[in-house]
Amino acid sequence: MLDHLTFEPPKPKVIAGATGDWELVIGLEVHAQIASRAKLFSGASTQFGAEPNSNVAFVDAGMPGMLPVINEGCVALAVKTGLGLKAQINLVSAFDRKNYFYPDLPQGYQISQLYHPLVGEGEVIVDMGPGVARKVRIERIHVEQDAGKSIHDMDPHMSFVDLNRTGVALMEIVSRPDIRGPEEAAAYVAKLRQIMRYLGTCNGDMQNGNLRADVNVSVCRPGDYETYQETQDFSHLGTRCEIKNMNSMRFIQAAIDYEARRQIALLEDGKQVVQETRLFDPDKGETRSMRSKEEAHDYRYFPDPDLLPLEIEQAWVDDIAAGLPELPDEKKARFVKDFGLTEYDADVLTAEVENAAYFEQVAEGRDGKMAANWVINELFGRLKKDDREISESPISPARLGQIVDLIASDAISGKIAKEVFDKAYTEDRDPAEIVETEGLKQVTDTGAIEAAVDEVIAANPAQVEKAQANPKLAGWFVGQVMKATGGKANPKAVNEIVTAKLGL
Ligand code: ADP
Ligand code: MG
Repeated sequence: MLDHLTFEPPKPKVIAGATGDWELVIGLEVHAQIASRAKLFSGASTQFGAEPNSNVAFVDAGMPGMLPVINEGCVALAVKTGLGLKAQINLVSAFDRKNYFYPDLPQGYQISQLYHPLVGEGEVIVDMGPGVARKVRIERIHVEQDAGKSIHDMDPHMSFVDLNRTGVALMEIVSRPDIRGPEEAAAYVAKLRQIMRYLGTCNGDMQNGNLRADVNVSVCRPGDYETYQETQDFSHLGTRCEIKNMNSMRFIQAAIDYEARRQIALLEDGKQVVQETRLFDPDKGETRSMRSKEEAHDYRYFPDPDLLPLEIEQAWVDDIAAGLPELPDEKKARFVKDFGLTEYDADVLTAEVENAAYFEQVAEGRDGKMAANWVINELFGRLKKDDREISESPISPARLGQIVDLIASDAISGKIAKEVFDKAYTEDRDPAEIVETEGLKQVTDTGAIEAAVDEVIAANPAQVEKAQANPKLAGWFVGQVMKATGGKANPKAVNEIVTAKLGL
């Protein structure tokens, strides 16, 4: 089934320095908001864009004596995500307090999972072109609370705090440093997003902060990474810097590129990379130091005494596993196999689960390649132009299927089909009805075509002579006949008749 998973790993990105080549090593910590309507430890709503401080329960506001109560739905979605990433699910995990002061963190600590995360090791296949993919190992996924939001740009003298986001459930998905270039990093985030959207565990809206990544970057010499892989000894890798809170694929790539070059310049200058947390400035395209890297002990982590260890049952996990949908890799492989699609087309069609579902309805019982062609080239092209989602498509899968049928049965030519598509799309009409009402049915009646060919031949004796000397010019006659029949003649039949009549 997963034939396309027999792939070659892509080459790492190499940057030529003054003293030789450098390679990039990247590990990502992705914060994904769990698609839950209530927060992780309170019943407050997670609705985006609500009136500031309207979605705040006492426990979110850190009121004395308030106790957190775990939201089972959030745990189920995190488990589902783990299963989707083929990861180990830990039946016993625990919550820890990560202590730090911040005005938008009223508790004075964030509840997270340091020592015993809910999800352990997994993996993600990141496609980098047909037959080329990187396997990125997942180290762990832990569940934690989000912080609130400080607003500094509403007043010249005051800052404001909005606690709506405080306590919203996040999954932190930590990768191994297996990513080897900026494009791979973006493709990895895109793949995680795609898998979670298939699973329905995170809606992946990066603009609303639903999905954010901390990007760890280091550089090393060719060969060093392979030594690290053999030994799993991090000392073979360079010192890393962490770029915080990136919420755009484009910025992730720009930040990595800038950061790698900055580190190379330092090293080639005989200086050292200092492990630290940096911020990316999209306007300047640079990263700058935010704070020196903090260690776990700086946060005085300790098990949260308000929460019991989280124990889940294997049977419950099995239930969630049984309800997993078909995931992108499997769907893509099936599209290639069952519908005879190219990997590229299958990739486009499975990018969003809704697109895949639409395609399958069109392709069901029809020529898969033709269906793919119409969905990708005509429909997606048109939707993109109109800035619409597939759910807003004015043409239903059944109607697009009709168009494919009309072509397959030779009722209309491909060219007329585009006209029919356009009418069905803009006028909300049935393709079969359009063909009928507007008399667009293809002329396959050879008698009518013959008459049209005869007419064109009779009117253009000089052209006939030329075509007879050079058969390539017969195409001109085909064009004329098509024109004369308003594009409705069957092009194959026209071709045959023209060739015969010209004696070619
Ligand atoms: P911390 O707890 O300090 O954030 P982790 O060990 O959890 O450190 O690693 C954080 C991230 O940094 C992980 O995604 C990991 O893969 C990545 N990472 C670790 N070492 C390197 C390195 N040398 N270069 C790039 N990324 C790295
Ligand atoms: Mg970290």
